[in-house]
Amino acid sequence: MATVPLLLLWDIDGTLLLRASTEHGRALRSAAARVHGLESLDGVTAEYAGRTDAAILRDLLRLSAVEDSAIDALASEVRDACAEAFAQLCPDDLSSFVAPGVPEVLGALAVRPSEFRQALLTGNFEPIARLKIQRAGLAGYFEAGEGAFGSDSVSRAELPAIARRRAGSWPRSRTVVIGDTPRDIACARADEVRVVAVATGPFEVAALADADAVVDDARAVLPVLEDWATA
Ligand SMILES: [Mg+2]
Repeated sequence: MATVPLLLLWDIDGTLLLRASTEHGRALRSAAARVHGLESLDGVTAEYAGRTDAAILRDLLRLSAVEDSAIDALASEVRDACAEAFAQLCPDDLSSFVAPGVPEVLGALAVRPSEFRQALLTGNFEPIARLKIQRAGLAGYFEAGEGAFGSDSVSRAELPAIARRRAGSWPRSRTVVIGDTPRDIACARADEVRVVAVATGPFEVAALADADAVVDDARAVLPVLEDWATA
């Protein structure tokens, strides 16, 4: 009997793209400030790594004395405004931010559909994620209607199950999260799927030791996945 392909759920920031979040951060801040009638969210800081856009925005707005009820009431308006702001700010070409080896690895996996299927799993709101990937020249690897995004849940822990459902109730045992932060590992654990951590973001290999495999470069992901695909 043929083995079920591995569903690979790729994180974007710190994994597929490196240091490409400046305009994204500016878009979130300016859009949320405008929708909530605040002068600015500049200078307000939150933890970003591995978190969803909605979770980051909630922190920024709470620190600016916005009530949770108002945050909830305007959440979808803020989401739309963030996507519009990012579309204005996003550089035309993000290809220089693609992590070393990523195009080669995605390409090598894409030509083996009987072994691998690829989708995105990111805390970015979906329109922001899709635009980044398009401007990075990687959109051809990720089909519309697949994956899971910060617009699907405020909690990253819920995203793997959403991505598996969109792939057609993909089995946990054949799903792998690939990301760069302890929160990527935690979301995989929450859904009981495997995880490869890549130490190309803000965390060193030692801080990612709870993953099923830890590598220091995107190129090193390929042999791990090839091993798991046949197991
Ligand atoms: Mg990341």
